[in-house]
Amino acid sequence: MKYDVAIIGAGPAGAYCGKDLAEKGIKVLVVDKEKFPRHKTCGGLISSKALKLIQDDCFDNYLNNIKSNPVNKIILTCGQKETELEKNQVLGMVVRRKDFDDALINMAMDKGADFVDRCEYKYHRDLKNSYEIHTTRGIFYSDYLIGADGVFSNVAQVSKLRQRFLKWEMGLAVSCEIPKELVIEKNGAEFIFFKVLGGMGWCFSGKDLVNIGVGGYALDSKNISKTAKKLVLDRIKNKSTPFKFHGSFLPAGGRKRQIARERIFLVGDAAGFVDAFSGEGIYYGLKSGKIAAETIAKSQSARKYEQECYKTFLSEFRYSAILSVVLGDRRRIFYNSIDKNFLKAFYTVLTTPPEMRCYRNFIYSVAKDGFSPIFPYLWMKSLIFA
Ligand SMILES: Cc1cc2nc3c(=O)[nH]c(=O)nc-3n(C[C@H](O)[C@H](O)[C@H](O)COP(=O)(O)OP(=O)(O)OC[C@H]3O[C@@H](n4cnc5c(N)ncnc54)[C@H](O)[C@@H]3O)c2cc1C
Repeated sequence: MKYDVAIIGAGPAGAYCGKDLAEKGIKVLVVDKEKFPRHKTCGGLISSKALKLIQDDCFDNYLNNIKSNPVNKIILTCGQKETELEKNQVLGMVVRRKDFDDALINMAMDKGADFVDRCEYKYHRDLKNSYEIHTTRGIFYSDYLIGADGVFSNVAQVSKLRQRFLKWEMGLAVSCEIPKELVIEKNGAEFIFFKVLGGMGWCFSGKDLVNIGVGGYALDSKNISKTAKKLVLDRIKNKSTPFKFHGSFLPAGGRKRQIARERIFLVGDAAGFVDAFSGEGIYYGLKSGKIAAETIAKSQSARKYEQECYKTFLSEFRYSAILSVVLGDRRRIFYNSIDKNFLKAFYTVLTTPPEMRCYRNFIYSVAKDGFSPIFPYLWMKSLIFA
């Protein structure tokens, strides 16, 4: 079967790219190795900036069919200390990723995309004008090939765009979902600061579940697992309630990597588009999928796709990585009484697209005012004002 575009992976990046292409009248195939709906390890917090992107597409019709909980409160916690910000607007939506991803791929199919699940991409051959794509469910042909196959992208490796991400480039996060009635929770998006290298914990209130987890640098993996277990035991009402963690890696954005060549494009996690400070990846998956679809619809080059992505994300990813590295242990936010500043930063990160440069503005204000001693602000000042 011959398609204009074949997309490998039906996570947010692949499904949304497929939806956008189908909407533009392009013949598109999306394949995924899993049987859908499938489990996906995630905190399940869809930021309001991601919601805005998909709500333009009447995604509300699909969201209404899944269990989701709008949150309008951000809580920062460190030991017994706590600070919160409540707004009259939706700051994000807590969902089960299984349902959310299924809704996205259904939207793509309703717009005209073909979807085949339990279909694993193995490799492809370049026939010069098209690609011959070998999968566990047969051979497909397409003019373009999109790698939306996550952090360990096979498309990236087979096409030699990149080998695996190195461990130091990645974060690791573990999470579990627990029925709401069994947990002590604060009905919002709670971020919890521990002694975890470059990371934090969370407790996100869903409709009938609470998602609890911890993320940080992959190199600190043992500590992340230990801290997550302690956090859950701290929050569940009955300490003998069974719970099970799932973990996965996150590729931190901030480095310029090759993400496209000829008619092959990487999107989402496959391209390394995760915010190092917040761990958010869904927005960047959706947005890069959209940029890829626009590039293909306009018959623009792989270079153009790369330029557009990096123009939109790169500087924000860099500032986010700087913030993460410089801050180190995030308990400093409370020790140095700047929790209110960070509440505002979390609010902005959830609600503002990267084009508005929220990390840049936040770090800029920190460096300018220089509220020492929490940050080595002279160092940051030299980075920003040099
Ligand atoms: C514990 C944890 C918590 C997180 N919490 C949040 C959060 O709250 N909010 C947020 O925005 N982000 C969060 N993230 C990040 C977010 O989950 C990812 O950034 C996001 O899923 C990336 O989407 P994607 O479509 O690029 O890739 P994925 O969602 O990983 O989808 C890739 C798809 O490709 C398929 N695939 C892989 N290989 C093949 C193959 N060879 N053939 C066919 N199919 C293949 C997979 O089955 C999968 O369905 C979290 C990550 C972790 C690990």
